[in-house]
Formats: sequence, structure tokens, C-alpha cells
Amino acid sequence: MRKSIVAGNWKMHGNLAANAALVTDLLNTRFPGDAVDILVCPPAVYIPQVAVLLQGGGIALGAQNASAFEKGAYTGDISLSMLAEFGVQYVILGHSERRALFGEDDAQVAEKFKAVMASGVKPIICIGETLDERNAGQTLDVTARQLKAVLDVVDTDSLSEAIVAYEPVWAIGTGLTATPEQAQEVHHALRELIASYDADAAAKVRILYGGSVTADSAAQLFAQPDIDGGLVGGASLKAKDFLAICSAAADASANG
Ligand code: PEP
Repeated sequence: MRKSIVAGNWKMHGNLAANAALVTDLLNTRFPGDAVDILVCPPAVYIPQVAVLLQGGGIALGAQNASAFEKGAYTGDISLSMLAEFGVQYVILGHSERRALFGEDDAQVAEKFKAVMASGVKPIICIGETLDERNAGQTLDVTARQLKAVLDVVDTDSLSEAIVAYEPVWAIGTGLTATPEQAQEVHHALRELIASYDADAAAKVRILYGGSVTADSAAQLFAQPDIDGGLVGGASLKAKDFLAICSAAADASANG
């Protein structure tokens, strides 16, 4: 039985006042019985602020990116040990916006994945196909290639701690959501791929769906057998919407 998890990706949104208001609202709701893991990933500059706001509140802190390097002449980068000093427990890697806008390729994402796994911080590795790739019938090939790139570089013993996020590029920030059946098909294929490396890890790895998840679409998505929660962008900036998604994930955990 995998515990649901919901991650809020704030992207490049927020300011001191808005962050304080949002976190305060999020912390006003508690989920009974520790039913869902919840985390928020603010822009890096706000990590110290949000770390303080979250203290003792039961919501974890994530980062949106991290360097594969420990230290040195990497202007603009932030290392995992720096993030860990502020209590960061998760880091999003290979988000499609970083792949498309900042040129991160499978090999760079794999290097980061390896570094994150070694650091004790948990990676949320994002993979997903473009609309052209889906229309060309390449969805399962593309997502398998992206996942294999990271599975090939790590020791599978620790793999069950990693989190995979299937995020069809055409669904991110567009208002288009994959149907539960479309998402389940990919999640199942990804779990099978992980099983070909390590069956035990495959049973434990949490695979999130991301791409325009809303309070309305969450329950049906999370009811699918291989969908273990969500990576949420736009809706994570509104406490009411994000909490409704977390609540759907908590219900999915409870209903097994
Ligand atoms: C994301 O940023 O990972 C994401 C899924 O965004 P949205 O929910 O806005 O589509």
C-alpha cells in the first residue's frame, strides 16, 4: 500500500506576503491519520522564508531544481547540501520547462538524479511526452527513454525512495488533463519498466500525475491503481484548490 503524495510546484510565482498568506491557509487544514504526504516547492529564493513558515506544520519543503555539482564555479546554481541546510527534503528534476526552456537533456537530468539520490534528498523525476509525440504514438517510448536514463545510473536498492512524476507536456499549464485511462496506461508502463530493474522497488515507488490537475479532476485520477498522487502547478497557488487536491489524495490512500 503506497501512501499518496501531493507536491505543489509554485514555479516562478510568489512574494513574501503571498507566500505567508498561502502557507498560513495551508496549515489551517490537517489531514486525519497522516493519510497523505504534502510538500510545496517555492522558488529557491523563498526557501528560507517558507522553511520557517512550515515549521512543525506537517507539510514538507521541496526545491524546483538543484545542481548536480557539490560546489565550485557554477554561477547561478544551488547545491543539494545548501538546500538541505534549509530543510529541503525533495527536489523536482527534469521538469519539462527546464528541458524545453533551459536545454536540460536526459544525460544532465540523470547526473542530477544520481547526485540527489546520493544526498538523501528525494528526487521527483519528471517525464512526459509532447503532443506531437503522443499523436505519433510515441508516448510509451518517450517516457520509457526518459525514465531509463535515470534508472540506468542509480543503484536500485534506494530506488523505492525516488518519486516519478508523469507529466504530459501538452497538459502542463494548458487546462488539458490526461484522462484517468490515458494516465493509468503510462503509469502502469512506467511501473513495469521499474519492475524490470527491481520488482520490490516498483511496488513501492510512488508515481505522480501532473498536468492541469484540479480539484475536480483529482479524485478520478488518484483512483487509478498506479497513480499515487499529483504534482500540481497552477492549482497549488490557491490554498482552497490545493487542499481539495490533497484531500482527494488522502481519500485515495484511505480507499486503498
Ligand atoms: C507543473 O508545473 O508541474 C504542472 C503540472 O503545472 P500545472 O498543474 O499548472 O499544469
